[in-house]
Amino acid sequence: MKKIALDCLPEGKQKAVTMSFDDGKTADVRLAKLFRERGVKATFHYNSGNIGRETYVTEEQVREIGRYHEISVHSCTHPFLDRLPLPAAVSEVMEDRRQLEKLADKPVRGMSYPYGTYSEALVNALRACGIEYARTIQNTGEFDVPEDLMKWHPTCHQSHDLDGLYQRFLNKKKHIRIFYVWGHSYEFDRDQSWERMEAFCDRIAGDPRIWYATNLELADYITAMRSLKFSVDCSYVYNPSAADVWILVDDVPVKVPAGAQMQV
Ligand SMILES: [Zn+2]
Repeated sequence: MKKIALDCLPEGKQKAVTMSFDDGKTADVRLAKLFRERGVKATFHYNSGNIGRETYVTEEQVREIGRYHEISVHSCTHPFLDRLPLPAAVSEVMEDRRQLEKLADKPVRGMSYPYGTYSEALVNALRACGIEYARTIQNTGEFDVPEDLMKWHPTCHQSHDLDGLYQRFLNKKKHIRIFYVWGHSYEFDRDQSWERMEAFCDRIAGDPRIWYATNLELADYITAMRSLKFSVDCSYVYNPSAADVWILVDDVPVKVPAGAQMQV
C-alpha cells in the first residue's frame, strides 16, 4: 500500500507566506504597493464604518487594493465582538461584509477579530454565516497549518524578529509550513520601520519554493485538501472541489485535479 500524506501546497510546494493587516489606515496603500511590487500577497481587513474618514483609506483605494490582494472583514466599528450580544456581533460582521462586497465585487469570506478576541458562541455563529476563516492575534512563533481556520493564530507581529523567524521557517525540512505575519500599516509610519519591511520583502521575494498567497487563498486550499475523499485502502481519491490539490504519494507530490477521481 502506498503511503499517502495530505502535506502539499500547490505545485508540490510545502511552504507559504501570507500577510495580514488590519484597520485600513491610509498607509495600507503604500504597504499594498510594496507587497505587489515584490509578488507578495496580503490580506487587508477593513472596518467599513471607517472607510473614507480622515486618516483612513477611501472606497476607491480599497477597490484598487482588492484587485491584487484580498479584502476581508474586521467588523463595522471595531468593537470587542466577544462582549457584544451575539446578534449584535453577527450584525457587525455581516454588515461589514455586505459593505466590503460592494467594493470587492465578489463574496468576502474571511475576517480578523478586532483586538483578536472571540468566543465559542461567536465562532459558531460566524461559521454559520459563511465566514470561512478568522485570524486571532495569538503569535505562535511557529508555522503550522491551522487546525481550526476560525481560530487561525499567526506566526508573529510585524515588529518581531522577521529575519530570524524566516530563517527558522526555511530550515524546516518536512511538512506544510506557513509564515504568517500580521500587523497594522500605520505602525510602519509610527515606528519608522518601512525600510525594515522593504528589506524583508526583498529577501523573501521570488523564491520558487514559496507560495505567496492571501489568507483566503490558503484557507481555500486547506479546505479543499481536507475535503479529498479516499477509498478505505487509499488507492482511489476524489477531489470534489474546484481547486487542484497536491498530495504526497510515497513522498512524491501528485496532483489531484479539481473535480477528478483517480487511482493513486
Ligand atoms: Zn483592529
